[in-house]
Amino acid sequence: MNRARLGIFGAVIAATAVLAVLGYVSLRQWQASAELLFREQARDMATMAAEKVEMAILKTEEECLSNLQILLMDPALRAESLDAWSRKNPLFDRVSLMDRRGRVLYPPGGADAYSSLLLEIPQGLWERGGRRHLLVGDQVVLAAVILGPSGAPVLAALGRSEEAVKRLVLAKTLGGLEGPSVLVVLDRADNQVYPSRPVDRAQRVLTVAFGEALPTWRVALYQPDGVSPVSGVRREAMLFTAAFALLLVVIALGLGATYRVVRRESEMARLKSDFVANVSHDLKTPLSLIRMFGETLELGRAPDEATRREYYAVITRESERLTRLIDNVLDFSRIEGGRQRYDIAPHPVESLVHDVMEAFRYPLAQRGFKVDVVVAPDLPDVPMDPAAVKQALGNLVDNAIKYSGERRRLAVSARAEGDWVAIEVGDEGIGIPAVEVERIFEKFYRIGRSETQGSRGSGVGLALVKHIAEAHGGRVGVESRPGEGSRFTLYLPVARGD
Ligand code: ADP
Repeated sequence: MNRARLGIFGAVIAATAVLAVLGYVSLRQWQASAELLFREQARDMATMAAEKVEMAILKTEEECLSNLQILLMDPALRAESLDAWSRKNPLFDRVSLMDRRGRVLYPPGGADAYSSLLLEIPQGLWERGGRRHLLVGDQVVLAAVILGPSGAPVLAALGRSEEAVKRLVLAKTLGGLEGPSVLVVLDRADNQVYPSRPVDRAQRVLTVAFGEALPTWRVALYQPDGVSPVSGVRREAMLFTAAFALLLVVIALGLGATYRVVRRESEMARLKSDFVANVSHDLKTPLSLIRMFGETLELGRAPDEATRREYYAVITRESERLTRLIDNVLDFSRIEGGRQRYDIAPHPVESLVHDVMEAFRYPLAQRGFKVDVVVAPDLPDVPMDPAAVKQALGNLVDNAIKYSGERRRLAVSARAEGDWVAIEVGDEGIGIPAVEVERIFEKFYRIGRSETQGSRGSGVGLALVKHIAEAHGGRVGVESRPGEGSRFTLYLPVARGD
C-alpha cells in the first residue's frame, strides 16, 4: 500500500474522529442547554405559584386585620362580636388579644399560650404599630400591633389554621394547574401538605421556598416519569447517539472493506508484474539453451554422433518445456477470458499417465530421479479432455521436479476410489507449509521462500490444475509436510454427473 493511499485512509479516519467528537460535544451541549432551559422554566413556574399563594395569604390576612381593627375601635366592644369576627375569618383557628403588660383581653378568662410572643415584639412595633409572622411550635402566628378600644396598642396574635390554608388558599391557587407538571406544597419535614394532583410516580424536579408568610413550607415541582422534557431530551440524545454510532460503524465497515479491496488490488498488481517477469525468465532459459545447442550443431562442433544425439534431445526437451509454458499461459488467459473449451470424451487413464511420464523421461533421468509409476489394472475409461488432463498432470510432475531437494523420488499412481479415479503425484521434496496450502491454487500465487527462489515459475500452474479438475467435475487434493514432501491428487469422476 503506498503512502498516498495510507494518507487518504488516515484523512478519512481523522475526519471521522473529528466528526465523532464534534457530534458528541454538540449533543452534550444541546442536552445541557435543553435541561437548563427546562429547569429555568420549572423554577419560574414554581416561583410564580409560591408568589401567588403568598399574596393570597397576605391579602386575606390584611382583610381580617382591617375588620378586626374596625371592631376594636368600638369602645363598647364585647367578646361576642369578636367571636362572630373569628367565625367569619376561618383562616385563623386561634385568636388572642393582649395589652402591652400581658393582660389577655380576648379570649375572655385566661392566660394564653401566645403570651410568650410578648417577648418577641420589639419596642418599636408597640409604638408604631405593624405586623410580623412568628412561629409558635409549627404554627405560623400573625402578630399585629393595632389600636385597642381604649386607644392603647393591643397585640393581636392570630394562629393560622393549616386546614384553612389548604382549603381556602392552596386549593384555590394551585388547584386549576394545567399541563403534566404537579406542584406540591411540602412542610419542614418534606411531608406533602397539598399536592395539586396525585403525584404517583412523578419525579421531583426542584423546590422553591415561600416568603415570610409561610416560613417553613416550600413548593416542589414534579414531572411525571417519561413525559418530562428532560427525559424527552435524554431519549432524543440517546437516539441521536445511537444513530451517530451506527453511522460511525458504517463508516468503519466501509473503510475496512475499501482497505481490503485496495490491499487485494495492489497485491494482485504486484503478483501480475511478478508473473510477467517470471514468464519472461522461464521463456528465456529454454530459448537460450535451444539456441546454444542449435548453433553448436550448425557449426559442426559436436565431436561425435552420441553428443549430437544428446544435443538434439536437449533441443527437443527444451522446446517441449517451452510449449508447456506457453500452453499454460495461453490456457490461463483463455480461462480468464471465459473462452476455454474442453472436449470431453471417455479416455483410458493408463496411456495418458504413460504419455505424460514419457514426456518427462529425459528431465527426470537427467536429474537422477527415482520414479515409480503404478497404474491399477482394469481402470475404467474416464470422460475427459485428454490434452487438458495431460497438461494438469504435467504441471504436477513439473512442480514435483522443481520443488524436490536432495531426495529425488517421484511416485505417480492411478487408482479407482469409488466413483472416482485418483491420479496421484508424490514427491519427497521441500513440502508446503500448512498456512500456504489453501493459497497455492490461487492465480499468480507463489510461495516466496528461499528454497523456491532458484526455480522460477509463473504461479498459474496449480490454478490451471484446479480449473481443469473442476471443469471435469473433479477436484485436486494436496497433502504436504514441509521438509518431507507433497502429494497432489487429481480426482476425476468416472461418470460425468452434469
Ligand atoms: P509455479 O509456477 O510457481 O510452480 P504453481 O501454481 O505451479 O506455480 O505453484 C504454486 C506454488 O506452490 C509454487 O510456487 C510452490 O511454492 C508451491 N508448490 C507447488 N507444487 C509444489 C510441490 N510439489 N512441492 C512444494 N511446493 C510446491
